[in-house]
Amino acid sequence: MDFSSQFVVVGGGLAGAVACKALRDGGFKGQLHLVGDEGVLPYERPPLSKDVLLKEAGSVSCDVLPQTAYKDLSIDTTLGAKVELVDWARKEVVFHSGARLPYEKVLISTGSRPRRLPIFGEGLKNVLYLRDIQDAYAIKAALTRYKNILIVGGGWIGLEVAAAARILGLDVTVLDVSERLCNRINCSDLSAFLRDLHLGKGVHLKLGCSVSSFDGDSAVERVRLSDGSLLAVDLIVVGIGSVPNSEIVADADGNPLSNGLLVDEWGRTDLPDVFAAGDVSVIKTLGGRVRFESWDSARHQAQMAANGMLDDGKENITPYAPWFWSTQYGNMVQMVGDINGDYEVCPIQTRNDEDMFLAFCRDEMIYGAISYKFEPIMARIKRQIKNGKPMSLKSARDLILAQQKRS
Ligand code: NAP
Repeated sequence: MDFSSQFVVVGGGLAGAVACKALRDGGFKGQLHLVGDEGVLPYERPPLSKDVLLKEAGSVSCDVLPQTAYKDLSIDTTLGAKVELVDWARKEVVFHSGARLPYEKVLISTGSRPRRLPIFGEGLKNVLYLRDIQDAYAIKAALTRYKNILIVGGGWIGLEVAAAARILGLDVTVLDVSERLCNRINCSDLSAFLRDLHLGKGVHLKLGCSVSSFDGDSAVERVRLSDGSLLAVDLIVVGIGSVPNSEIVADADGNPLSNGLLVDEWGRTDLPDVFAAGDVSVIKTLGGRVRFESWDSARHQAQMAANGMLDDGKENITPYAPWFWSTQYGNMVQMVGDINGDYEVCPIQTRNDEDMFLAFCRDEMIYGAISYKFEPIMARIKRQIKNGKPMSLKSARDLILAQQKRS
């Protein structure tokens, strides 16, 4: 490696930090520069919609790397700086201030931002979104102050905030335009399970419904819904999906790339020496172009992009089994492996309505699974899928039975 080389990572979140560490672990000895627009070192986002809302302020550590790691690994950080453009023709990162930072290779890990609700009044003071740590603290404070919360969007943010709000004793309504919760996941059994779980915890659900208007002066007081009903609320949290922060890159004609950055398995875009990883990146799969918006995938992509930056991806593919988790009411909803292929979906009988296990099988072997609870078994299934030795349906049934007997 050329000692005078300079790699720049634009985006100070999970993928950016993991990529920097992976570049150093992989032997990169040149200058390494991490740029972030938040004024703090990279932090983990999963706790923001879970522990940060529920636990005592200051008790949850969210650091991706120990604070000392940046100095120890000689990673130069520029925080609180907004990048306007990655000028790939001149190989320079251009800041809002006009300053330019040259690079030999650049990784874009700028993540995504919440999709805004296209309703007049969505900017009023009691309509909150969740993306960064400040948003999480604002929601945490609001959950202690208010009693009636409407959550717009029955996806992962919506359901995690709903669970936290119920645990804290609020009256919670979740509304989603779709008839199913977590509609983005192509699994109606999961949607039905989540519906029953939340109904059982006292959440009111309005599915197939949208917000027509907000009433109120400085704050929303009532919400008119598309089914004609009027809801009195004192807090609204919106989680209706995210938009990739990819506009800092333009195509050869100068058009900003607003739909994410298409990458191969080593994080390479079509642009020279421009890589991307995490929420901002789009991957070509058999099912089409997908933005894998998950913590685990961001880590994997960052590692792979670092491999790509180091050796242009000639070798070094790390085996991977997709994994996603969400914590609701103290237990984990997990998805592992391939749940979108042409599989037989085999529910495994569990002891009560608050447990769930779905195996996605071919020839009685498990290539994917979705569960609520059963963490150790899911970890084994994940390991076996990753190692190319899927678990049999019979073994999973036996393990579940044994776990239920023990508890
Ligand atoms: P999400 O999981 O995509 O869910 C958004 C939901 O809002 C969808 O069900 C969507 O329905 C619905 N929706 C869209 N427009 C709507 C509207 N105008 N009114 C009512 N509902 C509407 O997105 P999210 O919950 O906002 O989360 C944002 C990102 O953070 C995602 O990438 C998510 O994966 C990530 N996240 C992950 C975790 C975790 O890893 N545990 C936790 C929280 C957040 P349609 O699908 O029908 O459009």
